[in-house]
Amino acid sequence: MYQGQSLRVTLLEDGLAELCFDRQDSAINKFDSGTVAELAQATAAIRAHGGVRGVLLSSAKDSFIVGADIFEFPPLFAGPSEALAAFNAEQNAVFSAFEDLPVPIVAALNGLALGGGFEMLLTADYRMAVSGAQAGLPEVGLGIMPGYGGTVRLPRLVGAATTLDWILSGKPQPTATLLEAGAVDALCNAGSLREQALARLQAVAQDDTWKARREARLRGRRDDSVDFAALKAEHGKRASHYPAPLAVIESVERSLPLARDAALAEENRAFTSLAATPTAQALVQIFINEQSLRKKAKGYTRQAHRLERAAVLGAGIMGGGIAYTSAVRGTPVIMKDIAAAALDTGMGEARKLLAKQVDSGRMPPEKAAAVLDSIQPTLDFTGFSEVDIVVEAIVENLGLKKRVLADVESRLQANAVIASNTSSLSIEAIGSDLQRPQNFAGMHFFNPVPVMPLVEVIKGPATSEETAATVAGYAVAMGKTPVVVKDCPGFLVNRILTAQFVGFVRLIRDGADYLQIDRVMEAFGWPMGPAYLQDVIGMDTSCHVIDVITAGYGERMRLDFAHVIARMVQAGRLGQKSGRGFYRYQADAKGRPQKSIDPEVADLLADVRAERVRDFGDQEIVERMMLPMVIEAALCLEEGVAESAADIDMSLLLGIGFPRHWGGALKYADLVGLPNIVAQCETHRTLGGCYQPTQRMREMAARGERFHPLN
Ligand code: NAD
Repeated sequence: MYQGQSLRVTLLEDGLAELCFDRQDSAINKFDSGTVAELAQATAAIRAHGGVRGVLLSSAKDSFIVGADIFEFPPLFAGPSEALAAFNAEQNAVFSAFEDLPVPIVAALNGLALGGGFEMLLTADYRMAVSGAQAGLPEVGLGIMPGYGGTVRLPRLVGAATTLDWILSGKPQPTATLLEAGAVDALCNAGSLREQALARLQAVAQDDTWKARREARLRGRRDDSVDFAALKAEHGKRASHYPAPLAVIESVERSLPLARDAALAEENRAFTSLAATPTAQALVQIFINEQSLRKKAKGYTRQAHRLERAAVLGAGIMGGGIAYTSAVRGTPVIMKDIAAAALDTGMGEARKLLAKQVDSGRMPPEKAAAVLDSIQPTLDFTGFSEVDIVVEAIVENLGLKKRVLADVESRLQANAVIASNTSSLSIEAIGSDLQRPQNFAGMHFFNPVPVMPLVEVIKGPATSEETAATVAGYAVAMGKTPVVVKDCPGFLVNRILTAQFVGFVRLIRDGADYLQIDRVMEAFGWPMGPAYLQDVIGMDTSCHVIDVITAGYGERMRLDFAHVIARMVQAGRLGQKSGRGFYRYQADAKGRPQKSIDPEVADLLADVRAERVRDFGDQEIVERMMLPMVIEAALCLEEGVAESAADIDMSLLLGIGFPRHWGGALKYADLVGLPNIVAQCETHRTLGGCYQPTQRMREMAARGERFHPLN
């Protein structure tokens, strides 16, 4: 009766028709605008036929429909709101026209139905499902809300409380929950779903009882299941950065008493205003960036050598964590140190982490024992001739690293790969004495290794593609997200972070209050303000990193004044580890350091201030902290330190907790608008090179370009 690219309608016996989603060019069904257009044509074909008595809604894929095509969102969201509202209204009219077919509709839910997929199901009069299926509305995770009638049709089916519970959690619901709530009418075995759904359709097409069900769904209703005021108060707290949950609650409250079409108009209004927020645009970008990283990770794994055995040099904070993570993810590992005590500590840490997993029921004790067995502590090089990769995590000393690696290399098979987990040394320099520098790369983990998701894989000038892919493949095998970057001081993440530190110490020099800076940057969305962050990193570590990295970037990062972090080190205020830094720390009952303001800091700051303390506007602080980061990120892109804006922004999110609702430094620039960023730089141009936009940024601003193109 109708055949499209994404769906078809077939006439069955007895005047029944089947509308089946079966996308031709993909293994999954999704709702892009082409599919919605086909749904309109299919609906028209069913209506025009005149003899159809009932419609079966089905899917020919393993899942039902996995949701909207998120790659279509960026240009729509960034465009004028009126255009998006009009587009949405048209799309919704298609769903409503299907729902309004003058015959009963029974849906067969055979697998996962997310977002628009679930909303499609809700246009049916009855839903049958196989027991393993799931349905959910995950839109708030993208900073938006259901836009194909989910906030209208679901509350009329399962009540407002359950609807809000499902939408706010974003989680797909199992069929038992769907059945109990009334979102599904009956469960069937996978083999008989279609047959039973057809039988139900036959039965309901016999008389008009389905009409009462449908009419009830189209009317507004009173629903006292939710204390809207309390729910809004609870979700209002995070609304400045994440407005979607509050908007959903308000929209459902407003649309409940309205008839369907007015309610859909309300949903459209709320959806459109959410789509225009920077948060929605950032979260959609993150989704797209994640897809890009996932694709690359698959490519690395394909190209990587087989990695059956690994070795780690150094059983310290990093080496211990790397060995544990390798073992727990299935690559057995030799852990070598020169100190027996370090090996004991390393094994002790692994034992503790495994015990935690066993205690919480996440790992059976036998698995924990096997993981521990697959870490082989040693003081010599036994077994090194058989490993496929060695990760070096010994102390940060160039001469020592070079010597140790040259020695290790001579003990390895010829195609084994060596990776150094340095935080500040040049990969080129570390590898300069190796016989096979093409088999050598950097592998920069973040602390604590078992928790932090990012690994920078650093290509030195001699590193082969194969080696980089193998190191990245090892990171993937460890459950990490690798980003391949070029060798430069600080690599990618710490280089960009250091640019922000430069902004911070200059602000202090120029008379800004560190308490205000922390407050403003935390309100911006950073997990902690920059002063507090220095305390957590440790002032001596940070000072060393700042010295090494700034020295690599000339005038732009030059610190030709006694800065506050060096002064803190001098005063023995090393941060949390010494109990005093920018703040004072005291352990609470659980032994966790609690910070408080330390009046003694004022005197120390007086030493490093070139200007009197003055009031800074919050916006001025944001600009002076964020612009150096944006510029450094732009330079990393221009210099090819990372391959793409997606790689850079995701590294900042995963490596240093860049606020997700801004999407990363480059997305932040896109959202503020590059012309505005360039204008802000102009305001601060007397502050030095780290406020100087690149020529390319100026050109992009003039041409209206973005770091993350919309298409
Ligand atoms: P650490 O001091 O905790 O551990 C270093 C270990 O290496 C010690 O146990 C030491 O006995 C051992 N060691 C020294 N010489 C050795 C040798 N010849 N053979 C085998 N073992 C040897 O240091 P860490 O914090 O784990 O740092 C290790 C490396 O990781 C450094 O290069 C550091 O810059 C880098 N890094 C550290 C962090 C961090 O946050 N700690 C983050 C990223 C990278």
